[in-house]
Amino acid sequence: MRKIVIAGNWKMNKTVAESVKLAADVVAAARDVRNVVVAIAPTYLALAKVAEVVKGTNVRLAAQDVHWENQGAYTGKVSADMLKEIGVDFVIIGHSEQRTYFGETDETVNRKVKKVQSLGMTPIICIGETLAERKEGRLEAVLTTQVNGAYAGLSADEALRTVIAYEPVWAIGTGVTASDDEAQEAHAFVRGLLARLYGDNVAQSISIQYGGSMKPENAAGLLAQKDIDGGLIGGAALKADSFLGIVTPGSRSASSLSVPRQATGLAPGAAAGRTGAPGFSSLRLRAPDSGSAPDARPDHPANLRLGACAQRTVLGSPGFYWRPRLA
Ligand code: PEP
Repeated sequence: MRKIVIAGNWKMNKTVAESVKLAADVVAAARDVRNVVVAIAPTYLALAKVAEVVKGTNVRLAAQDVHWENQGAYTGKVSADMLKEIGVDFVIIGHSEQRTYFGETDETVNRKVKKVQSLGMTPIICIGETLAERKEGRLEAVLTTQVNGAYAGLSADEALRTVIAYEPVWAIGTGVTASDDEAQEAHAFVRGLLARLYGDNVAQSISIQYGGSMKPENAAGLLAQKDIDGGLIGGAALKADSFLGIVTPGSRSASSLSVPRQATGLAPGAAAGRTGAPGFSSLRLRAPDSGSAPDARPDHPANLRLGACAQRTVLGSPGFYWRPRLA
């Protein structure tokens, strides 16, 4: 089952004291958020202190990068064990700034993904095209190479324990956002790539965030798209109110699509277990997109009217599901 995952990437911003304050503000503001996974990624320097602030709350800790080796002569780097020890749940891997300025390749992304997973943390795998690549008509080729590279050697079970962030590079930190349609189109393409690698059911269970100048003003439109399952947020995550201004529409979008767990036929915990991220507890059910059947997309906002509870099989799990009334 897919979750809405909204993560704030603080990049190289905030001192330790400022990070602690912002984390406390986010924790307070997100106290009642139940159906969105909220995470924050401070600098390495602030991680341990922020870990104390988020401990026992519904805000998860994320790191901005990792090294794939356990220890050794890698000046300036931090290992996955070190992150795990202080309570990190998510690790951002392959961010475009890492790729552009620090030589990250699809191969190093793949090594990092495997390392992070081996310790039970969830990688947020960043992919996305530059403006030149998009203009040259290479969007699909670039995304294909990045997805194939990041997932090389990963089993279906391991793939289920990943999150992807589709971030068009031209939209990161620029104030220019992909339109709802552009973003949805790219997300659907990425999901198709996952389906080719692992089959439809797995592809339908992996959360794909959008990233690139997402802010409260454009979040609702983006998050209403059928294949957009949250956001990776840079600039707008540096203030608790603007960050929550994105979490709130995410939460609304999730709750309009939520199905009580006991009505799903899923074993308790089964949904959370699909992605493996600690603390994943909320549901946003999305059935496999089986094409033309009228009730094949019970979660699509365009299809949602007053839902009726109906018995059917979703992702191989027979049970009771909300069936949409089509317009
Ligand atoms: C990011 O850093 O991943 C990002 C999306 O930044 P911004 O929201 O500032 O564009």
